[in-house]
Amino acid sequence: MSYARVLCVGLAGVAGHLVEVEADLSTGLPTLALTGLPDTALNEARDRVRAAVVNSGRDWPNRRITVNLLPAALPKHGSSFDLAIAAAVLAGAGELPAAPLDRVVLLGELGLDGTVRPVRGVLPMVAAAARAGITRVIVPAGNAREATVVPGVTVRAVDTLHRLVEFARGEAALLDPPPAPETTEPPGPDLADVAGQEIGRYALEIAAAGGHHLALFGPPGSGKTMLAERLPSILPELDDDAALEVTALQSIAGMLPPDGRLVRRPPFQAPHHSSSLAALVGGGSGLVRPGALSLAHRGVLFLDEVPEMSRGTLQALRQPLESGRVVLSRARGTTEYPARAQLVVAANPCPCASPAGDHACQCTPLVRRRYLGKLSGPLLDRIDMKINLLPVRAAQLTVATEPAEPSTAVAARVARARTAAAARWATGGWRVNAEVPGHRLRRPPWRLPARDTAVLHDALEIGVLSARGFDRCLRLAWTIADLDGRDRPAVGDVCEAYQLRMGEPTTRAAA
Ligand SMILES: [Zn+2]
Repeated sequence: MSYARVLCVGLAGVAGHLVEVEADLSTGLPTLALTGLPDTALNEARDRVRAAVVNSGRDWPNRRITVNLLPAALPKHGSSFDLAIAAAVLAGAGELPAAPLDRVVLLGELGLDGTVRPVRGVLPMVAAAARAGITRVIVPAGNAREATVVPGVTVRAVDTLHRLVEFARGEAALLDPPPAPETTEPPGPDLADVAGQEIGRYALEIAAAGGHHLALFGPPGSGKTMLAERLPSILPELDDDAALEVTALQSIAGMLPPDGRLVRRPPFQAPHHSSSLAALVGGGSGLVRPGALSLAHRGVLFLDEVPEMSRGTLQALRQPLESGRVVLSRARGTTEYPARAQLVVAANPCPCASPAGDHACQCTPLVRRRYLGKLSGPLLDRIDMKINLLPVRAAQLTVATEPAEPSTAVAARVARARTAAAARWATGGWRVNAEVPGHRLRRPPWRLPARDTAVLHDALEIGVLSARGFDRCLRLAWTIADLDGRDRPAVGDVCEAYQLRMGEPTTRAAA
């Protein structure tokens, strides 16, 4: 037999497609031709596969070899096709019986010595194989754990090409994936560590309950980062679909821990303000890496010192934040990644960032206005709450005898509020108040009495509140009522929502 066919998977974004790898061996000048839109890394597969076969103690067939990847129209990236190419060539040459590999997806990169190396994106590849009706996969040993989180697929692993050949010949067994880790995900930072900061903690709770975007302003040491980092700890765990999606994105980024467990905690991403555009939105050659925006999908994107970010960067963030997805255009086609993240931005009150009360700051009011002015406009208009944090006084830290309320207690209130909101909006399919379209809140049966929303109408009238801001205040008011266990927002909730929106001290903070 001089023809063989094995299966592999190609990725386009998080979506994968079954790829058939055909090998045809004919008489003629010994060459290896690869067809079917291979990118550079795939072209290099030629040399890797040849060396790996020879160094595994097999004869390289000295014939004219054509390897074709189908469907040809699909772009194919990266090195994950190596193992399938080698298997197809060896099966075509009669070195390896093809029957044991029938309807089996093979994934893996080959080292020149014949070892099988881990690749990025194994989880979404296996998930795609399962969707296509495949029930057996063979993956690199280093990726075996993550492959097992896909239900309905039998996962076996290989460490060397030699083992795959021996297996097909019935001379050796494949490797079993390592057992599931017994420990649970290590706990993240907890709100119990945050002393004082009642208004900050309260805003964080509202943000978690309603899915609202949040801006934190305050001098260094006022706890902006501490608060932002703890938002995931009060959000509900990811459900099965979301967990698979988030874990798949981390797999493509190559940042899944070796135990390869399903990620259940909402992710937290805090890209530096000087991060490149590629680091933020995604990029790179071969299999395009998702950026921080997509790695924060279903979780929190924290932008610290946001006035330091370039206008171009802030501009590039706007569209994905609005649409919930990142579209990256490349010569070989576009890649799309989901990017539905909750946004927390933080800023110092002035560019010199002196701690409050420190006389070193000589920034003029004009400089301060300009600094924060960079934030104004479309990005800030999309942020629901603006919170001014005061520095924590030493007294608050030392006098506090009781530890602050832990994340679990806050998370329980958040979960209750979210359940109430999800039940109310079930017909529209919205899970949190932040997702509800403004017109739904402005029409019966959800319209609030005019006397209760007078503060918003007045602000709209004199132009201090935009139409978008008006709707954001309504959503916030609903969340405040949900957290308080009430059916509908009262006038006090609307006022408080307005204060949170405008960055004014709220009645609650003063209490
Ligand atoms: Zn200053």
